[in-house]
Amino acid sequence: MKIEASFVRSAAGAADLPRDGLAEIALVGRSNVGKSSLINALVRQRLARTSAAPGKTRLANIYRVARGGRESLYLVDLPGYGYARGDRGELESVAAAYFGGGSRSREGSRSANDVARGSGRGARGGREGARGVSRAALLIVDARHPGLENDLAAWSWLTDNVATRAIVATKIDKLSREERLRAMRTIEAVFEDPATAVSAETGEGLDELWKLIDRLTNKTSG
Ligand code: GDP
Repeated sequence: MKIEASFVRSAAGAADLPRDGLAEIALVGRSNVGKSSLINALVRQRLARTSAAPGKTRLANIYRVARGGRESLYLVDLPGYGYARGDRGELESVAAAYFGGGSRSREGSRSANDVARGSGRGARGGREGARGVSRAALLIVDARHPGLENDLAAWSWLTDNVATRAIVATKIDKLSREERLRAMRTIEAVFEDPATAVSAETGEGLDELWKLIDRLTNKTSG
């Protein structure tokens, strides 16, 4: 299938996010987990990272992708969180600005911090429906390290704040067949959700990942 992809922009804040109503799939995960590699593998070209502006705080790198006759969508690379054990703050400040939310409540009572950051305003609300934009989240985890505390914290935040989400286990090429089965079982058990196994290196699982993305975008744009 023909894929056309382009870098749109590095968004400094919520005001730079797309406003054309196309579906957005955000990749969330630890620094170095392989998000840029996965974006490049999905679009079959080297797009991600070319725009990296070191030292600048960025909210998101945005890529626009058209596959075959399908409606275009955005792949959104959110800044990776660090290795601090169980640190929710790092992920939350970015994710709250992008998705909206940030409180433990599903029903939108936003915290004072969110309002101060500007993520609580209706027009920029970010959740499904707030400006007619569907935003789904993919939590990218390293298949070799199932259930890291900060990944679990990220999933917990997404569960509370983002209606459409899924887990993707990457770097699966680094595991033997037997290790993969064990890793995927562990991941699905600790996150209590199905996970899709992929490798940006070998391309394994990318077709399944595109199918998953199609399902998520259909779900949110309905
Ligand atoms: P990001 O910080 O999440 O964007 O991570 P990168 O995409 O920059 O990847 C971090 C490192 O992991 C790089 O050295 C990549 O080459 C490597 N990497 C990423 N994905 C894979 C994968 O699927 N398999 C293997 N073996 N290495 C990977």
